[in-house]
Parts: sequence; structure tokens; C-alpha cells
Amino acid sequence: MSHDHKTVLATEFNLPKGVSEVAAKDPGTYLQFNTQMTTFYQQTYGELSRFFLALRDCRLIGSRCPECAQVMVPAATWHCPMCNFAEMEEVELPHRGVLAATAPITIFPSAAFIGEAPFARGYVDVARDAEVASFLPSRLTTTTGLPRPGIFVKGIELALVFRDERQGTIRDIFWVPLAEVPEALRRKRPLFESDLDFESPVAPAVEHDSAHEVALETALAAMSAMAGKIERSPRAKKDLANRRHTIAFRTGGGDFTMEIADGALRVSRGLPPTSDFVAVVSDPSVFSKWVTNGSLTDAAVEGSLWLPDRKAFGVLPILDRLPRSVRRDVGE
Ligand SMILES: [Zn+2]
Repeated sequence: MSHDHKTVLATEFNLPKGVSEVAAKDPGTYLQFNTQMTTFYQQTYGELSRFFLALRDCRLIGSRCPECAQVMVPAATWHCPMCNFAEMEEVELPHRGVLAATAPITIFPSAAFIGEAPFARGYVDVARDAEVASFLPSRLTTTTGLPRPGIFVKGIELALVFRDERQGTIRDIFWVPLAEVPEALRRKRPLFESDLDFESPVAPAVEHDSAHEVALETALAAMSAMAGKIERSPRAKKDLANRRHTIAFRTGGGDFTMEIADGALRVSRGLPPTSDFVAVVSDPSVFSKWVTNGSLTDAAVEGSLWLPDRKAFGVLPILDRLPRSVRRDVGE
């Protein structure tokens, strides 16, 4: 496999090599040298190019060895390492797959994926007819809001989706549960991101019962008490400064609204006429826990708090700071 690269920046951008002295008080003299944090370079995909060129053309291909019949996806090489580098042939793979193992959900991503969390990544078995095949590492997406535990479980059938704009990277594709693809689109090839509706996920139904009603009363009391303390907490006021949110919560004990404005939190019964987003919780004790020592982010990660999108998820860290700020400034 060749990964040729050449420098993008001209050599005059390079800092001169060498060590020089810096006079200082203690221990007297320091040595300094030039260094940098980042290098830019161009790199080819090498033998993987064929796989990514195919993705750009909305085709998913693997390389198949005519001798041992193993299928590689992504087609990382076209010469079988098991069979004395026998030339491998191209096979067109289905746009359906099965999740090989339950996928983890990433909440705190590395720098390259900031702003994209939470997201799920997993291994998809696409070459299911082959006796030996690699699994394709893939991004997994749902049309039902944020990824939650219980969606991307081992064995679930997936449909391949192509981004409308492709450039030849693994981000050109992702997978959604086949069950979320409307019947009329299940045979469409290629299936595009714009064929599916990710913008208006349908909120799950809540189970109403009297235990949840009691839990909501407790939670509302706890949140109102905290709202009162926020007025006496400089830290909490700072957490909320310059923020305006109207969040509608539908719970198994009834609906309520959380309003953030002018550095204050207001909690009231019922749904607002308009809101930033609607969140759904079956068991309102999530909010009592949040006030005492819990985290709404954790509730969203565990799946007990349903959120429509990443923007909604982005509000949770601010809310999660409030109980701690109040405790530090005002006490229990
Ligand atoms: Zn082989």
C-alpha cells in the first residue's frame, strides 16, 4: 500500500532548526528551540482510493479473493495477504447490512468531532454471503432523535444512506435502522440523506400513571426551590447569563415548561405556545435527581430523557451546572 505525501506549505514556512540561549535568573540560562504543533500534508488513499471513488459514485464495493474467497470492506487492499498476494476482484455489496455488535454512543468526542456528539459508531456486516469478511466501521444515525441505547443493538438490520454531496470519504455514507426507512424507499438505490426526514423526529409516547404524577409534584417542588436559590447564587446566575431558552417537557406525570431568561430559571406547569424544543421523559424523578446530585446529560445518554436533536443536547451541560453552582453559593 502506498501512502505518498508531499508538503503543502512551502519550505520557507518551516522554522529554522537550531538551539539558542535565553538569559534568565534561575537557573541562569535556558536553551530554546523552534517547534510546531501541527504539520500539514497531503496523503493519498493509496489502494483504498478505489473504494472511496466507488462511494462517491454511490456504490459500496469490497475486494474479494478468488482463492480464499474472503471479502474485504473497505477494500483496503486488492492483493490478498493470505494467499501470496493473489489479485482480488471487485464485488458490489448490498446497501443493507446487519450490525455486528451493539454500538457504543460517543458523548465526549475527540477534537475532530466536537459539536457532532452524541453519535454512534459500529461495525456493519455487509458481505453476509461471504464465508469470511471484514466488518465495515460505520457511522450510525437514527431518524428518531438522538441516538439512544436500545437502537443500535447487535443484529439490527441497517440501510445504507449516501450523503447528497459526496467527496470520497467514509463520511459520505452512514447507516440507519432499516425499520426507520419508509416502505416505499426500502428498495431505492442509492438511498440519499435527503430521502429521509431527520429534521422532525417523532417524539415517543409517554406512559401516564399516578406514580409519575406524584414524581412530577416532587420534581416541580425541587426545581422551584432551586430556581429560588439561583437568584442568590452568583455562579448560577452567571451560568444562565445571556441565555434564553424555553423548553417544553412532556412527562408521564404531566407537562411542564422550563424557561431561562434574564439569568433566572422559571418552571411552570403545562406546555408553552412555542419552545426551543420538546423533550420527553416517562419518569419525572429524573428532574428531582438532577436537582439533588444528578445530571440531565446522563439521563439523555441513558435514554430516559428523549431529545430531538444535538442542539437540544447542547443545552444540557448548562442546566447541569446549576445544581452544583447553587450548592457552592447557597448550600443545600
Ligand atoms: Zn485469499
